[in-house]
Amino acid sequence: MAGRHFLQIPGPTPVPDRLQRAMHRQMEDHRSSTFPAFTRSILSRLPHVVHQTRGEAFVFPATGSAMWEAALVNTLNPGARLLAPRFGQFSHLFIQTARNLGYTVDVLEEPWGEVADPAKIEAALAADTAHEIQGVLLVHNETATGVTTDVGAVRAAIDRAKHPALLFVDGVSSIASLDFRFDDWGVDLAITGSQKGFMLPAGLGILYASEKALSRVDACTTKRAYFDLRAMRANNVQGYFPSTPALSLLFGLDEALTMLLEEGMDKVATRHRRLATGVRAAVKAWGLRECATRPEIASNSLTAVVVPEGHDARKVIEIAFTRYDIALGSGLSEVAGKVFRIGHLGDMNALTLAGALAGVEMALCDAGIAVTLGSGVGAALQHWRVPS
Ligand SMILES: *Cc1c(COP(=O)(O)O)cnc(C)c1O
Repeated sequence: MAGRHFLQIPGPTPVPDRLQRAMHRQMEDHRSSTFPAFTRSILSRLPHVVHQTRGEAFVFPATGSAMWEAALVNTLNPGARLLAPRFGQFSHLFIQTARNLGYTVDVLEEPWGEVADPAKIEAALAADTAHEIQGVLLVHNETATGVTTDVGAVRAAIDRAKHPALLFVDGVSSIASLDFRFDDWGVDLAITGSQKGFMLPAGLGILYASEKALSRVDACTTKRAYFDLRAMRANNVQGYFPSTPALSLLFGLDEALTMLLEEGMDKVATRHRRLATGVRAAVKAWGLRECATRPEIASNSLTAVVVPEGHDARKVIEIAFTRYDIALGSGLSEVAGKVFRIGHLGDMNALTLAGALAGVEMALCDAGIAVTLGSGVGAALQHWRVPS
């Protein structure tokens, strides 16, 4: 098809030309004497993305899910007990990963479209007077339903319960797009990948660890090999990696950090909020509803739209893809066929999104869902225009 394809899924997100060019380079020796300067440029700037001033950041050739595993096996002894709210496919998979690794997880069930409930977390931790629970697993931005949990409120709940559990936060679809306060929220391990807010291809797993988390690593008795942070740390201090780094992706990450920090993380978060508000105005104008049950928890990095009863979201997605060259996110697991998702994170601006919303409107109409052409786009433009 002529023109450009609209990759409007919540990851992988479009890779800006600038990052494509940065990655299009010859390989080099990752054991050379000049390599450490490059490693340090990346590792020293990664913390700024999440406002981390203490602890360390790590990069693995891997993806976000691998960082769930890396975070768990380096800080929790075999059989450790954990607490986790479940409110979507990614919180479910985080829990499954922990269980597959032999950890015990007490699950707090929430309806899909809701977020973690700090009061329930506080009650569960307060009831654990023996402090058996070693960690709380939390998904910051649930990509399956388009909701964002208030991590600061969860930290406050843990503190009110005076509980020492580590706070594990999956920030795969929030870090580098939404505001993420590693220090302020008292996060111990934050997990992400390269293909969402960092605007790169998939292939890098990024892990942030607090001093408290790092203090557990050496004594942790869980068996691990590839993901062993002891080897990673020993190499990183010298400016190297234990195995061959994913160089092309690191070239890209180096440039992505420059892009993000040039714009400024506060401005990145503000841009995402502004874009998301326009998309939500469009959904309202279409007469449709979001999967998020309340406006205050709606995600700024993606919007999950519920199709009316009797319609199949998969049809909307297929029409959008084949007729209008736009890829929308599908409904996962429990919400398969009920929702489609519009990703609006990463390399995105108002005009890009206006085009995407136009494609969604046409696909909705073609699928027999009564929306007025131009209604959603118009509502979004009202929100996005910049009157003098
Ligand atoms: C995409 C995503 C993941 C999975 O990351 P991969 O890089 O695909 O392994 C995990 N959690 C959330 C919230 C995500 O959006």
